[in-house]
Amino acid sequence: MITMYVPAIGLEIHAELKTRTKMFCDSANDPDETRPNVNVCPICTAHPGTLPTINREAVRHVLRVGSAIGGTLADFSEFDRKSYFYPDIPKGYQISQYEHPLVVGGELLGVAITRVHLEEDAARSIHAGGKSLIDFNRAGIPLMELVTEPVIADAETAGRFARELQLLLRTLGAGEANLEKGEMRIEANVSVSSEKGRFGTKVEVKNLNSFRSVERAIAFEIRRQTALLEGGGEVVQETRGWNEATQETFHQRFKEGSADYRYFPEPDLPKLILSDIPEFSTAAIRASLPELPCDRRARYARAYALKEGDVAYLCATPERAAFFDAVATALKEHKESIARAVNYIVSDLAGIYAKRGSEAYAALDASAFAKLITLTVSGDLSSRGAKDTLLILVEKGGDPEIIARERGLMQVHDTEELQAAVTAILQQETRAVEEYRAGKEAALQYLIGKSMKATKGAGNPSLLKDIIIKNLPS
Ligand code: ADP
Ligand code: MG
Repeated sequence: MITMYVPAIGLEIHAELKTRTKMFCDSANDPDETRPNVNVCPICTAHPGTLPTINREAVRHVLRVGSAIGGTLADFSEFDRKSYFYPDIPKGYQISQYEHPLVVGGELLGVAITRVHLEEDAARSIHAGGKSLIDFNRAGIPLMELVTEPVIADAETAGRFARELQLLLRTLGAGEANLEKGEMRIEANVSVSSEKGRFGTKVEVKNLNSFRSVERAIAFEIRRQTALLEGGGEVVQETRGWNEATQETFHQRFKEGSADYRYFPEPDLPKLILSDIPEFSTAAIRASLPELPCDRRARYARAYALKEGDVAYLCATPERAAFFDAVATALKEHKESIARAVNYIVSDLAGIYAKRGSEAYAALDASAFAKLITLTVSGDLSSRGAKDTLLILVEKGGDPEIIARERGLMQVHDTEELQAAVTAILQQETRAVEEYRAGKEAALQYLIGKSMKATKGAGNPSLLKDIIIKNLPS
């Protein structure tokens, strides 16, 4: 008989929040500060006698995340001390939340969320030249922790969930959540079980610095644990790291129980009676939310009948989506033009940005881009001409029509069609033809005007003039 092993995965995700100051003091929260130990003060370096105060902006960010995932926002919350020794936690404990997190429940992409709470980040240890150095700039930066239920069944779903959370944080302006900068840190708990309704022993994997390593580490753990059990072995509860070079997880330490942290309510901070703060009410927080990624995707699919891949591409960053929205508005929601605009965004513009190594939607004028699209829809610009014009628009900006004219990129319209229109006009307008031959210049202008009207403005006047002169009956 073949035994089936079913994986269960739960994620613990930490994200640094975007606030002006740190979680419990007035030191700046500046992730881009490169000089060490600049954004520090006696509070975040834990000098005796100093007292913390709660950062309102950080609380608000977590409540907004909670509202966006449909969780229950606390009306009472408090902070707890989580005691452990580590050189980069100056107090000897971390202020976190234990019994009363700000948010309980909710879901994202169908993955049930256990809780979302607020805590403070640790300092950064730097090991170099046989020495260990500590940079306290990061100590005390507001840190959100989101924990999911162990309901994720495979590595791809875990990766998708983590990407979606990053997008949500960016959409809400709660954080940049760049994994490579350590602004978002993902831990994956993985177990496999052969018994329905029973979880296997879990292993926690840390040091996952990219979405891809999250997926690969989980897939590796599922294979490793399955092979272990199939060989008659046992999974031991432990913390493992991810080795990017070998693409394997490795043992780091056996996990200490949660009792070791000696959690107790932080005596230096007041309780949070959130129900007394009008701006933190469930209704006020919900009303403060922008359009969420899931709603935006649904709107694009519904309103513009776009392909799923195109919707996913447009919605992958808030900047891209905002640019597309501005273009759609500039195109007055005209369906055909918007479909054309999507093609140019997902292929030509994406190609230009890929070549440059970064996107710069904020620097690209959406109405100029929309005008370029209109010129291609009307046939004034060929796709070749549009590509060249777009590159100039991205590099220098300007009016696409002027750019295209200056470089002779505007379409020379089908002369056969113009020829036919002119021939018909010349046959009709015998009087004007006679007058022109008699030397009346104005008659030529009249004939050009008539021809332009007949070609619905598609014919360029100087081209029409040439055709008329060439076709005058002799
Ligand atoms: P701990 O106290 O060890 O941190 P928790 O019960 O708080 O453990 O869970 C932490 C994370 O581990 C959560 O994301 C949860 O979904 C996940 N988890 C718990 N049990 C399992 C399991 N058997 N298999 C996989 N993930 C699990
Ligand atoms: Mg844990």
